[in-house]
Amino acid sequence: MSRAIRAAEDLIKKYCIKNQHQLDLELIANAEYLIIEETELNGLLGKIIFDQDMGLIQINKSITNIGLRRFTIAHEMGHYYISKNSNRNKHGCTIGSLGNYIPDKSHEAEANKFAAELLMYKPWFSKYIKNMPVCIDLIKQIADDFKVSITAAAIRYAEIGQYPIAVILSKNSVVQWSFINSYFPCRYLPPGSVVPKESNVWDYFNGKQMSEDEDMIPALSWFKEDFKCKRSTYFYEQSVEIPVTNSVLTILWQSDFD
Ligand SMILES: [Zn+2]
Repeated sequence: MSRAIRAAEDLIKKYCIKNQHQLDLELIANAEYLIIEETELNGLLGKIIFDQDMGLIQINKSITNIGLRRFTIAHEMGHYYISKNSNRNKHGCTIGSLGNYIPDKSHEAEANKFAAELLMYKPWFSKYIKNMPVCIDLIKQIADDFKVSITAAAIRYAEIGQYPIAVILSKNSVVQWSFINSYFPCRYLPPGSVVPKESNVWDYFNGKQMSEDEDMIPALSWFKEDFKCKRSTYFYEQSVEIPVTNSVLTILWQSDFD
């Protein structure tokens, strides 16, 4: 188990938190000698300065989205638990590191992992999504119930859920990143790929109204370069606008036509 995940679990156990509704992030932070203040932060969402026993978390006061605000606080707390015993005692974090899926072991990725585990603790999350097939409405419902961003909820669903799903974030008609779970039949979708013309996402970036309804799309439209992807495979596709970053989050899931 990674250090980030263990640290989040330790907090949940230490304060005997039973479910996501009992998780009062600021109360826990204060009990842990982490002071939170809202302030103007040039271009940063959050920042933390700490020593081994205490820290100051600063949150950009212009964040209006409650999910993003909570994820930012939890992310900064993550930096504290992950590096309080090292000589690094300062982190400044942008939307680029918080709103992205970063598949590595960097400080930013680890802090995101901590935040996801604390806010969407695996046992609570698994219980919530049990037997719930995915669609954007479910992702929105999860975001609402766990008070996290839609992006964080979608990634967590892909991580923990039992259904084949791909989560894709696009900006300016180009894929920024994707998170594809192990059940999903197609894999190769490098950042920089252009969004397919057949997709609703294309409309969004080309001045048209984007439909948020679910649609069917041939797998090869998205996974043109994936040689293992079959021509006969179709996916359900549904997208939602992420206004904070001017981007679109898309989920693809398996249809029964394969
Ligand atoms: Zn950070």
